[in-house]
Parts: sequence; structure tokens; C-alpha cells
Amino acid sequence: MSEPLVIVGNGMAAARLVDELAKVALGRYAIAVIGEEPRLAYNRVLLSSVLAGETASHEIELRPAAWWRDRGVTLKYGCRASEIDVGRREIKIANDESIAFSRLVLATGSTPLRLNVPGADLAGVHTFRDSRDVDLLLTLAAQKKRVVVVGGGLLGLEAAYGLAKAGAPVTLIHLMDRLMERQLDGPAAQLLKSLVERKGIKVLLNANTARIHGETRVEGVELADGCRIDADAVIFAAGIRPNVALAKDAGIPVNRGIVVDDVMQTSAPDIFALGECAEHRGICYGLVEPAYEQARVLARHLAGAPAAYSGSVVSTNLKVSGVSVFSAGDFIGADGSEPIVLNDARRGTYKKLVISQGRLTGAVLVGDVGDALWYLELIRNREPIAKIRADMMFGRSLAVRSEAA
Ligand SMILES: Cc1cc2nc3c(=O)[nH]c(=O)nc-3n(C[C@H](O)[C@H](O)[C@H](O)COP(=O)(O)OP(=O)(O)OC[C@H]3O[C@@H](n4cnc5c(N)ncnc54)[C@H](O)[C@@H]3O)c2cc1C
Repeated sequence: MSEPLVIVGNGMAAARLVDELAKVALGRYAIAVIGEEPRLAYNRVLLSSVLAGETASHEIELRPAAWWRDRGVTLKYGCRASEIDVGRREIKIANDESIAFSRLVLATGSTPLRLNVPGADLAGVHTFRDSRDVDLLLTLAAQKKRVVVVGGGLLGLEAAYGLAKAGAPVTLIHLMDRLMERQLDGPAAQLLKSLVERKGIKVLLNANTARIHGETRVEGVELADGCRIDADAVIFAAGIRPNVALAKDAGIPVNRGIVVDDVMQTSAPDIFALGECAEHRGICYGLVEPAYEQARVLARHLAGAPAAYSGSVVSTNLKVSGVSVFSAGDFIGADGSEPIVLNDARRGTYKKLVISQGRLTGAVLVGDVGDALWYLELIRNREPIAKIRADMMFGRSLAVRSEAA
């Protein structure tokens, strides 16, 4: 008989886990997925495209209902799991209903952070995480509301771009001295800023949000330097917090995320976590690729096959506000490394490769990202690059030709 496997969370990690399980352990588990969002799992990454009007909301569904049915998965969506009873191996959902499990996987993702400033709870303050948020932001844009986006990382830039494209006047404020500081070095961030400003978005750096003004609704944002920006709405895009409450309340150890080992198991036997809610070797990843790698490992483990996750080399390869951006590895360049840089602000391209001990260890590309995956492979495989060093800056085709010569 199939063992009951319950997955909490119906997001990208959960969907990929079911996909992987269907390949390696078909029939071994009777899978139930409990998801709080009231729709089938969708590609969250594409919410930015939905906001920018480039994709319709129904087109981002990861799998149609029939796909889940064909794999015998029981889907409970629009349903929040509220408590794990570790001893009885049960999970509580709405109406005091309980579901029994032999294995449990937590794939609960993250929640956007709201800055702890006066006015943060006023009407008109929003976040950008799920499809309900997107519907709300689209309504704001259609009404030409003046929007302040707080946070100049990936999410803030995506929100600003989508809102501006949909017609809202947008100011993006960022605490740091450059955009996307966790992915880009100074020159790349400067180029991105100028390209974003060309889209009509006002960007303020070194801007510390002090308070949000308004009686009952947002009327403006005040910065620590006293500067005030009039606004009808504020979008917080200043970070995420892994959803760990279910695990924590059940006595399962958590730090920032739910602590897991190399097979994604928590300290409780047969209870696992993956995706943004999990913390592996001290790292909580906020990207989808690590979640997919974890899903592959966990599926193999659940199938009884040897598997181990040893962490992910994180890369960012995306269109930020309509501008292609790629970054991977040690993109700043640790002491002793050699950076090679090509900067053509006029054409809107920037390229930096970081070499250390004869290997490519990091890269940043803005504008032209055609060779991004090749650079990523070189970084991941730690291949010696002596033979292609002179040409690798100019792309794969030239470098491979000179290697063969
Ligand atoms: C707008 C946007 C753009 C992004 N762009 C990129 C990108 O370009 N590249 C990239 O790599 N990553 C990107 N990300 C991040 C990426 O979407 C996440 O890393 C990925 O979705 C993580 O998958 P997950 O399954 O761990 O979490 P999620 O996809 O968030 O899924 C978790 C699910 O669990 C549900 N849940 C939580 N608690 C409970 C509970 N108690 N009971 C039931 N259900 C619960 C939540 O409602 C949610 O549906 C983006 C994110 C956003 C919001």
C-alpha cells in the first residue's frame, strides 16, 4: 500500500518535488499537497511578467489540474496547515480536520518583510509575493496612483518596472549606495540604474525610510534625511523571511530557516523541508534553482536511492526592469583575484569576469547575457581556463575556436 506523504505549501518547490517523485518513486507514496493560496501552483518568477502585462495570469500555472490528478495527488488549496503533531504524525488544517502522514515535507516559502516604521500598517501599503498582490498592484497602476517602491533588489526593481509599464508614476528608494548590491558590483549597478531611469522610474539611493505619512491611507514617505515623497501607495520589497512557524511550534529546530541536513531532513525523523523555508548549512536560498536542486535530492532520498545536497552555486540570470542581468560566484573579486572588465555605457553593456588561481570564479553581465550559461558552467566546473583566457571575454564561440587551434 502507498505511504501517505503530505507536502505543506503548493509553490514552486512542492510542484517540482512531485514532478521528481513521479519519476523515481511512482506509486510508492499517496501524495497530498496542502496549499494556502487559492489556485494551482504557478511560476512565481513570472509574476513580474504578469505585472508588466507581458503574460496573462492563467498562463503561469506550472501544471494543469489533470497533471496532478494523473499522478494521484490530492490537492487541497485555499487551505492553511496550522499545526504539526510530530508524535501522532498528523497535520491540522481548517475546521479541526487532521491529515495523517508517514512522511511530511514543509515547502512553505517565505513572507515579504514589512519595515518596522510608523505608518507601515496604513491602507495603501502592500507587498509583492503572490498573484493576489499582483491583482492589487495592477489596480493601483490602472488608477495612475503615485507609488513608492521600497527596496532596490530584484523584487523592488521588478515591482517598479511593472508598475511604471502599467502607467503608474514610480519612485524606487533603496537604502544602499547601489542597486542589487548582492548581485552587482558598482559599475554594473550604475549602468542598471541609468537603464532603469530611462524607463521613467525615479531612483533614490542611500534613502532610508523613516516613516509613512497618512491619516488612514498612505499620503507620502519621509526619509531619514527629512526629504518627503508624496505617494498614494507604498510597496515593500525589502527582503523576505522564511515561513518557519509550523516547524518552530512543533519543536523542530529553526534558525532563520528550518534547519535541514544533506537529504533535506529536519531533526525530526521523516519530516523534511525544502525551498525558501529551509536552511541548509547556514544558508536560506531566495531563488528557485536551489529549490529545484533540493527537490531532486529529496525525491531520490524518498525513493530510497543515495542522494546528498551539498549547496548551490547561486546565479542570477534574468531581465530586471527589462534589462538583462547575470551574476554568479565571486562577482566582486576577493583579494588576489584578477578582474577583467569591459564597460560600454553607451551600448548599455557591462561585462566583468573574475579569475582566481587560473579558474573563473565569478562574473557579472549587464545588457548582453548571451554567454551567461557558459560562464556559469566554467564557474561551477572549476575548469582551468589558461587556454581560453585571452578570448573568453569576447564570448564562447571565439574562445572555443582559439582553444581548438
Ligand atoms: C515577483 C517575484 C519574482 C521572482 N523572480 C525570481 C527570479 O527571477 N529568479 C529566481 O530564482 N527566483 C525568483 N523569485 C523567487 C522564487 O519565486 C522563489 O525562490 C520560489 O518561488 C520559492 O519556492 P518555494 O516553493 O520555496 O516557495 P513559494 O513558491 O513561495 O511557495 C510556498 C507556498 O506555501 C504556501 N504556504 C505557506 N505556509 C503555508 C501553510 N501553513 N499552509 C499551507 N500553505 C502554506 C504559500 O502560500 C505558498 O504558496 C521571485 C519571487 C517573486 C515573488
